[in-house]
Amino acid sequence: MTGLRVAVVGGGIGGATVALALERHGVDVAVYERRDSVPPVGSGLGLAGNGYRVLEDLGLGPALDGTGAPLATMRMLSADGTEVAHYDTGRLLGMRRADLIRIVLDGVGPSVVHHGRECVAVEVDTGPPVVRFGDGSCAAADVVVVADGLRSRCAPVVAAPPALRPAGTSALRGFVSADGLPEHLATGQNAWLGPDRHLLCYPVDRHGTLNFAAFVPRPAGSADEWSFRVDPEVVRDAYAGWDDDAGAILDRASEVYRYDLADRDPFAPWTRAGVVLLGDAAHPMLPHMGQGANQAIEDGAILAALLAEAEGAADVTERLATYEATRKPRTDRIQRQSRRNGERFSRARDLTSGDDSAPTEDLSWVYGYDAPAAGRAAAARLRAS
Ligand SMILES: Cc1cc2nc3c(=O)[nH]c(=O)nc-3n(C[C@H](O)[C@H](O)[C@H](O)COP(=O)(O)OP(=O)(O)OC[C@H]3O[C@@H](n4cnc5c(N)ncnc54)[C@H](O)[C@@H]3O)c2cc1C
Repeated sequence: MTGLRVAVVGGGIGGATVALALERHGVDVAVYERRDSVPPVGSGLGLAGNGYRVLEDLGLGPALDGTGAPLATMRMLSADGTEVAHYDTGRLLGMRRADLIRIVLDGVGPSVVHHGRECVAVEVDTGPPVVRFGDGSCAAADVVVVADGLRSRCAPVVAAPPALRPAGTSALRGFVSADGLPEHLATGQNAWLGPDRHLLCYPVDRHGTLNFAAFVPRPAGSADEWSFRVDPEVVRDAYAGWDDDAGAILDRASEVYRYDLADRDPFAPWTRAGVVLLGDAAHPMLPHMGQGANQAIEDGAILAALLAEAEGAADVTERLATYEATRKPRTDRIQRQSRRNGERFSRARDLTSGDDSAPTEDLSWVYGYDAPAAGRAAAARLRAS
C-alpha cells in the first residue's frame, strides 16, 4: 500500500480504467461520476490492440472476448460500393461503449464507484486537492485525476486548455440489427468514402448488432447543442444514391443521434498541485483514428504504474510529471493525425481513380504500443533515479 488516496472525477472509460489499475496495485481510489448509472445503450467503439493489451493485463480479456465482436478485416469502398482496399486490422474488438465501461467497472470494488456525484470544482489552493460536488459535499485526496471528458469542467484548474475547435463535421450514429444482412455486412468493418462524407459500420456484440457512424458536414445554423436525437431520415437522405449495401444498413435505423465533432490543439501542462488530467480531458481528439478511448485506457495503465510506487503524498509531483512526459508526445501525435485523417476523409472524391483518401500507412506504432510495459519502464526509471 502506498498510503495514497486518489479521487477520480469521471467514470467514463478513462476514469474506470485508471481506477481498476490503481485498485489492482493496492491504491485507495474513489471514482465520482455525475451520471446515476452506466447508460444502458450508448454508442459503439473499436477497442484496438493497444487498448485491449491494457485491459487484458488487468484480467479482463475473457470478459471482453465474450462480449465484443472481433473485427479482423476492413473493407474500404467508394460511394458506389466498389471495393478499393481490403486489409487485416489485427486485434480489434467492436463494442458497445456501455458494455466496455460496465466490464471495467465490474472489476473495481463496488464501494469505489460513486454514481450521481457531479463535481463542480477542484480546489488546490491550500493543502491537498479537494473535489467539491453539486450537493455541497466534498472529498479530499492526495491526487485528483480529472477524467471528465472532452468538455472538461475541471481541466482549467490545471491549465488553460485552448478553445474547443469544431471540426465542421457531425457524426450520425445508431445501432441496427444485422439479422438477414449478407455476411460481408454482418461481420468485419465496412467503410464507404465519398465526396465530403464517409460511413463506417461494424458489429459491436455477438448477437448481431451493427453500429454505424455516418460522418457528414455539420448542417449550417444548427443549435449549440452537441449531442441530440435526430430523425433517421436525416442519415438516409445524407447517403441517398450511395451503394445499396449502405442503404440496406441505414434503412434499418430507427434511433439516430447526432454528435457535432470537436477537438482541441495539444496543450500543457497536464498536472498541477496533485491534480492530473487523463483521457479526453487531457488530449481531446477527433475519432478518425478510433483512438480516443484507447489512449484514455493507455493513460490509465501508465498513471497507475507510477502512482503505485509513490511513498506517500509528498512523492507524487515527479510521478505526475513523468506520466505527462511519457504520454504527451504520443497523444500529441495521435491528436494531430486524427485531425489530418478527418480532413483527408472529408475531401475523398473518387477512390477508384487513385484518390489518396484511403489510409494505407503502417499504424503498428499505434496498435503495437505496450502501455503496461511502458508504465513499468517509467516506474523503474524513477526508482533508479
Ligand atoms: C463518433 C465517435 C466515434 C468514436 N469512436 C472511437 C473508437 O472507435 N475508438 C476509440 O478509442 N475512441 C473512439 N471515440 C472517442 C472516445 O469516445 C473518447 O475519446 C473516450 O470516450 C474518452 O474517454 P474519457 O473517459 O476520457 O471521457 P468520456 O468518455 O467523455 O467520460 C467522461 C465521464 O466523465 C463524466 N463527467 C463529466 N463531467 C463530470 C463532472 N463534472 N463530475 C463527474 N463526472 C463527470 C461523464 O459523465 C463521463 O462518464 C469516438 C468518439 C466519437 C465522437
